[in-house]
Formats: sequence, structure tokens, C-alpha cells
Amino acid sequence: HVQAGSLSCFQPELTAADWESLQAHAEQARDRMGGRTFWNVNSTARGGGVAEMLPRLLAYARGAGVDTRWMVVEGTPDFFRITKRLHHALHGSRGDGSPLGSAERACYDEVLRDNAEELLVLVRPGDVVLLHDPQTAGLAPALAAVGARVAWRCHIGRDSPNAEVERAWAFLAPGLAAARLAVFSRAAYVPPLLADRSVVIPPSIDIFAVKNQPMAPEVARAILGHTGLVGPVPELPAPVFTRMDGVPARVSRGADIVRLGSAPAPDVPLVVQVSRWDSLKDPVGVLRGFALLLRESPGLRAELVLAGPSVTSVADDPEGAATFESVIAEWREQPRLLRQRVHLACLPMVDPEENAAIVNALQRQAAVVVQKSLQEGFGLTVTEAMWKARPVVASAVGGLQDQVRHEVDGLLVRDPSDLPEFAAAVRRLLDDPLLSARLGAQAHEHVRTRFTAARHLSDFASLLRELDV
Ligand code: UDP
Repeated sequence: HVQAGSLSCFQPELTAADWESLQAHAEQARDRMGGRTFWNVNSTARGGGVAEMLPRLLAYARGAGVDTRWMVVEGTPDFFRITKRLHHALHGSRGDGSPLGSAERACYDEVLRDNAEELLVLVRPGDVVLLHDPQTAGLAPALAAVGARVAWRCHIGRDSPNAEVERAWAFLAPGLAAARLAVFSRAAYVPPLLADRSVVIPPSIDIFAVKNQPMAPEVARAILGHTGLVGPVPELPAPVFTRMDGVPARVSRGADIVRLGSAPAPDVPLVVQVSRWDSLKDPVGVLRGFALLLRESPGLRAELVLAGPSVTSVADDPEGAATFESVIAEWREQPRLLRQRVHLACLPMVDPEENAAIVNALQRQAAVVVQKSLQEGFGLTVTEAMWKARPVVASAVGGLQDQVRHEVDGLLVRDPSDLPEFAAAVRRLLDDPLLSARLGAQAHEHVRTRFTAARHLSDFASLLRELDV
């Protein structure tokens, strides 16, 4: 269900020219679509960047007068194991190393045939369907056959393709043959197969969402104290956040947070990575990098928080639990003094807005936000932190290179496996509050001009033109 969101909230954030341009794009989109529907199909309602971005973006599209709907495919465990394998392959990694042969194709096609049947009851000729990521690519032929205008959006990729990437494209090619257009987050991800019909649209965050709404430092501290993520803060104001419908709500689910290790003291500088439990986010590497930092500077006052969604909550990510286990194993290996300064937390996803408020508080309380991904299509977590003017350390891979300009609005680590370089970058920011403040302020501006939903909505309107709608 997509609830309409008014575009008017963007007006104070945009220049007069940009506000006019947004309105003009909205009008064009309305005219082009006429009475037709703009469908979006992805593979999970919760967890991960696509599920984060879609509902807000689609709400604004509906608010702009376009009949916009959101569908989530259903799949079997085998289906999601195969699509996770494809996810790794598009990042150039082997994942669990399982084959992508005829048995996998049969399973993939069968699940999507069932999903297509349900979609075809609703989708009408002339409707526009935007399919997201490998999990939905195979729906394109059935939808195109009934006269829908189908585009496929790929949120992942790798700058320099390797054999795994080629394998993924070979698997996806038959489905994609029916897509009129493909959308990528950066030009380097476009494969030869789709070179003649691809456009580049970077992702965005909704600066008005619960995750990014303004939050006073004392409220952030209160939320973290109340949930037990950070040691108790005496005499807290009520930990409330504002829901998307404007209603204030209390953070209530501290008890559901699974946390390892004692809670950090309230005033200690936090190094924070918030990510799904995915090996490509390299949570084990973050832990080792932080251990190195503390070995080199034992007197440093800093603690590490690795936070992610509860491991079974992300429908299309079957590897979450195993990855979390590997982080726990690494944590147990560390000396006690280090374990006391590293905190692993699984955040409940039952109430997505409450989860968003907790993430908001954590990102705002961070002294440094890190994203030590080995590969990253585009890391929303980094843009979220930058909007909050936090200094970031991110790997110089994939979309992170577009999000962060090195030394301008954050620090990039050239080699994502280089622990000393990572540790040195974190140390530099912890040691230099002036540098952190300067990078954070520039980061906020960079997000405002490049990565908000307003820019993204205008790109959607242009996409309709490219699709000849
Ligand atoms: N996220 C969240 N709760 C968590 C962990 C992550 O809400 O416990 C969100 C995070 O704030 C971001 C999204 O999930 O909005 C992850 O998007 P990103 O592009 O960073 O990575 P992806 O999961 O898509 O690979």
C-alpha cells in the first residue's frame, strides 16, 4: 500500500529554480502516465536499501498524482539462495560457490512464473513496471507480453567485471531481453548486454523519513539509553520520535534488541557501522580494523558498535544468520579488553519506523560512521550519516566513490582490505574534531544537492520519457 506524500515539504529545502523544476517534472509525469499505473516490484518489504528507498519515493510519486503501486515477490528458500548467489556474482564474488546451472534456472523461472500470474491479474497494457534487482528480472517477458512497458533497475554492480559478473549476466540475459530499459546506479556497472538501453540514476534518501528526521542530541541519547544500546543515561527526557503520519511515538522495544557485550558508556566516542549482516559489508573486517586501531593506540577513548537488522527479518537475505555468527566468532576470539569495547547489536524490524528511529539515533550519536564494504552498489547508510553531518570512512568501491569525495566530505580507503589504512582513517577523524566537523558539514550539503528524493523524482520523470510513455 502506497500512501501519498506531498511534495510541498521539499520547497524549503530547494532553490526556487529546483523547486520549479521538480513541479514541472511532476506535471510531465502526470501527463505522460494519464490514467496508467506505475508499478514497482522488488523482493523484500523490509531490510536493505531498496526496501528503505522504495516506499518513500513511491509515496512522493503518488503525491505527485501518479497512480503508483508496490509489489513484493514471494519466493522459496531455494529461490532466495539462488538470487543471493546472483547478488554476490554481480558484485564479482563467489558467494557460497553454488552453481548457476539449469536446475537453478528451473527453480528461478518457476517461482517467477507463479509471481507473474498474480501480477498479470493487475497490470494492464500501457502500465509502466519498474522491476528491481536480480530477483525480479525474470518477470520482464511475461509483463512485456501483455503490453506493459518494462524497465529493470539494478542496484548493485562492480566497477571492473570478472568471471562471476559475466556468469550473472548470462543467467539474467533471457529475462532482460524483454526489458525496454535498464537503470544503473553508476555508469561503470552497465554491461555490454544492456549498453544500448541503459540510463544512470543514483539512489537517494528521504530527508523527511523517520530515519533522517531532525533529532536533538538528548533525544538520540535517550533512545540509545532506553533501548540499552548505550549505557543508561540518568534523567532522560522521554525517548520519542515522530512517525511519518506526524504522530509522536515512544521507542519501546529495547528488550528485543539482541546485544553482545556490555553497553558502551554514554559519553564514549562511538565508531558505528549499520548494515545488513552480509559478508560484502565486511563486519569481521571492521572488527579486526578496530582491534588494530586499539592495539596501536591502547589509550584511545572509542568503542565500536556494529548494528544490523535482526538476522531473520530480511526476506531475501538467507545468509544473515551465518554472517552474524561469523562476527560473533571473531568477537569471541578477541582479548577481553577489546570485547568490552566492541558491541554487536541486532535491531528489531517488527516496527520499521521504530527501527528507523533507533538507527537515526545511532548514526547521530556516532563520532565516526564507517562503511568498510568490499563491494557496494550504493551505500544508503553512508548518505544517511552524511545527511546527519557525521564524518564517514568508506571503502573506495562502487557507488561509495560517488557518494563521498575524499577529503572533501569524508575519507575513502583505497583498498577495502587494507586494515592499517582503515584504522588510520578512523583514528584521524577521532583525533581531529575540526576536520570531522568540516567534512560533516560538507557531507550534509553534498547530500542536499545530489542525493535527496527530489532529485530522484525528477529522474523518474525523465525515465518515463526514455520509456516513450
Ligand atoms: N538498515 C536499517 N536497520 C538496520 C540495518 C540497516 O534500517 O538494522 C537500513 C539502513 O539504514 C539503510 C538500509 O538498511 O537505509 C541499507 O541500505 P544500503 O544501501 O546501505 O545497503 P544494502 O542493504 O541495500 O546493501
